[in-house]
Amino acid sequence: MRIDIITVHPPLLESPFSHSILKRAKEKGLAEVNLINLRDYAINKHKNVDDYAFGGGAGMVMMVEPIALCIEDLKSKRDYDEVIYMSPDGELFDQPMANKLSLTKNLIILCGHYKGVDERVREHFITKEISIGNYVLSGGELAAAVVSDAIIRLLPGVLNDETSALSDSFQDNMVAPPVYSRPAEFRGWKIPDVLLSGHEANINQWRYDQSLKRTKERRPGLLRDGE
Ligand code: SAH
Repeated sequence: MRIDIITVHPPLLESPFSHSILKRAKEKGLAEVNLINLRDYAINKHKNVDDYAFGGGAGMVMMVEPIALCIEDLKSKRDYDEVIYMSPDGELFDQPMANKLSLTKNLIILCGHYKGVDERVREHFITKEISIGNYVLSGGELAAAVVSDAIIRLLPGVLNDETSALSDSFQDNMVAPPVYSRPAEFRGWKIPDVLLSGHEANINQWRYDQSLKRTKERRPGLLRDGE
């Protein structure tokens, strides 16, 4: 899968894709993330990509023209499944959306800055708008990293143990059960006996019960969604 991220601050996104699981996905050729500097499509020698808002008011607006040139250039090279704009008023990102997007081949993600992008970009180029939560970030880069991470770790072969993404929170409309590692006792704090029993069916049952209990306590809405 290929994700092309359009940004005015490529360095902000270099680190998230250079470590750990996302780095491995890249090295294995399972995911390609390209950072596209919007300033390369700036229309003047000052490399401006933003301008004052019509009607006045504080804050700059990202201009339509550089974004149009950039998206058209990318689209002339390949077909994209979605052209995504990260936006606080977009559809709220969740695991089902990550699952769906992980089945696509080519994505563009546009990161906004300042007051956001000229509305005509949204009307004429954007096919999907995603928010990572009801709060405002200073730019779309961190949000794009969150979305890309959640998608890429789902691609077959990215995680070592392929079942591990399936047992994560939200995959069955439930949150994950508690997990423990060695030692079995630390400062008198013991792990549940069942986990030492070696009895797989009992362990699975315990994990299911714990997931259900936690979901009821912490995310009761998930259980209702799954009905
Ligand atoms: N004036 C805009 C906020 C602009 S914030 C408004 O009030 O809606 C600048 C950029 O950060 C946005 O264009 C968007 O790309 C990104 N951004 C901010 N908060 C975000 C969120 N919760 N989810 C996704 N992207 C966000």
